[in-house]
Formats: sequence, C-alpha cells, structure tokens
Amino acid sequence: MKAALCNFCLKSGILCSECQRRLKSEEVSKTDLEVARLLLSLEDKYPTLQEVYFHRAVEANGVLAVLVGQGDVRNLLAHGGKIIRAVGEKVGKRVRVLEHGVEDRKFLEDLFAPLNVITINTIWLPDGTTETRVILQRHRRAPSLNLKAMKEIAHKVRGMTLRVEFARR
Ligand SMILES: [Zn+2]
Repeated sequence: MKAALCNFCLKSGILCSECQRRLKSEEVSKTDLEVARLLLSLEDKYPTLQEVYFHRAVEANGVLAVLVGQGDVRNLLAHGGKIIRAVGEKVGKRVRVLEHGVEDRKFLEDLFAPLNVITINTIWLPDGTTETRVILQRHRRAPSLNLKAMKEIAHKVRGMTLRVEFARR
C-alpha cells in the first residue's frame, strides 16, 4: 500500500519526525493513521492492497469512507469484498470505498452503490451557494441507505451539499 506516511512508520507504529509533523499539522488525521495501519496489516493476506494508494479516511454517522487513488476501488473490492469486511469488523463501522480526484459522477456512483445514479445537477440557491441534486433509482433489495452519513461524507470529502431524491417508478 502507498500512503503519505512511510510504510516503515505505519508498520512499526513509531513515527519518524516527518510523519509526526504530518500528524501534528493535521495534514494526516488519527483516523487516517489508524486505517492506513489496518490496511497495511492486511497486505500479506490480500496482495492487491500493494497497489492501492491510500489518501485518507473520513468518518460520518457510523460509516467509514476510505479514499483511495483513481482506479483503486476495484483493488479494494477484490477478494470477494473480504478486505472491506475485515476493515469494517475492525473499526465497527460500515465501509465505503471512494476514489480521490475523480469527477462528481464517479464519486457519487461509488458513494451510493449499489443504487443507480440517474441524474446529477446543480441547484443555485438565492444566497449564491449551490446544492448538488442526485436522483437515485429505488432498489428493493438494496440495503437501507444511511443518508445522513452519505451527505456528511460528500461534504467532508468534496465540500458538496447533497439533495437526494428518488425517481418515481
Ligand atoms: Zn515516517
């Protein structure tokens, strides 16, 4: 796994002065450190993790969003979802894997998967701010949607205010 913190520091848990500085300046959060160490510890068991670039992790209302490099979602979802399950069990939260630096649509599709995103548009409010309206397709068998967490994640990760609606059948 690749990350802003050195693999050596992540493995040993004893941070060098540069990694300490990153943590102190809040360039890297405690959650980032915790999740990066966890992913690295799973690398021997799940080798596709070696290819993953870990950007950061964000917590919101019982959900942990793990931000990885472009194209890395599939590496994390490999092994039949076992990596995500292992992370979820350790942190006691549901886990979403998202890619850093992608277009809004890709970000929102990953955020709401397995629900289909039908439409995305921007709404301008009278005060000059914007909201991003997302219309999702209802899915009978999809797990219940933790809307509060999804909105918070979108805000923390992309500075996006979401308005979520469902398409009528
Ligand atoms: Zn270090």
